[in-house]
Amino acid sequence: MHKDNYRHKGKRQQLVEIVKRKGVTDKKVLGAIGKIPRHLFMDSSFEDHAYQDKAFPIAADQTISQPYTVAFQTELLELSKNDSVLEIGTGSGYQTAVLCELGAKVYSIERQHELYKKTKNFLEKIGYRPKQLSFGDGYKGWPEYAPFDKIIVTAGAPYLPKTLLGQLKVGGKMVIPIGKGVQVMTLFTRKSDTEFDKKEYGDFRFVPLLEDKN
Ligand code: SAH
Repeated sequence: MHKDNYRHKGKRQQLVEIVKRKGVTDKKVLGAIGKIPRHLFMDSSFEDHAYQDKAFPIAADQTISQPYTVAFQTELLELSKNDSVLEIGTGSGYQTAVLCELGAKVYSIERQHELYKKTKNFLEKIGYRPKQLSFGDGYKGWPEYAPFDKIIVTAGAPYLPKTLLGQLKVGGKMVIPIGKGVQVMTLFTRKSDTEFDKKEYGDFRFVPLLEDKN
């Protein structure tokens, strides 16, 4: 079932080269992409697609993000070991695993119950240990564990959820794709209680961050 063989490892190294060529330089991030068995995060019938640099359908009409996108967002966060990181959109858990691999304390929220349950079980099985996973609405953030060093949103936000900015430590960073249809990758750095620096990094396409379910 959960096999990772030399063939997978070889393909993973090729994927690392592709992600590198697209501009990711952070060695730890590349190391995580080279280490994490992405094929296990997808349905086994799609295994052959796992090491292409592409997003792919998972359960509940959602997608596992493109490896380049995962690497790029992670690089923008400039993680230090033990950073507390809030992730919105657990999905397959692949991005969660990358954050864990880099030594972050991960708090991740997923609004699709099916995915929440499946991914929680799966991450335990393959030995990744986020601090907490939750089934709920990411627009609200996670006040109980706030403020966070870093926040990563892995679905396309139609607008900037201000609540999330408020859950960032001073000095902290949040990376979020903002826009309807196409999203602009946006990085916020909290300069003080009231000031944020904002930088934009080009267009990406995500499944939408959805509101008001249930
Ligand atoms: N990080 C994931 C990406 C999954 S796609 C991975 O690497 O596989 C984005 C995910 O965000 C989907 O699973 C979707 O269900 C979830 N999502 C959408 N709106 C949300 C919301 N308001 N709160 C939490 N999760 C949400």
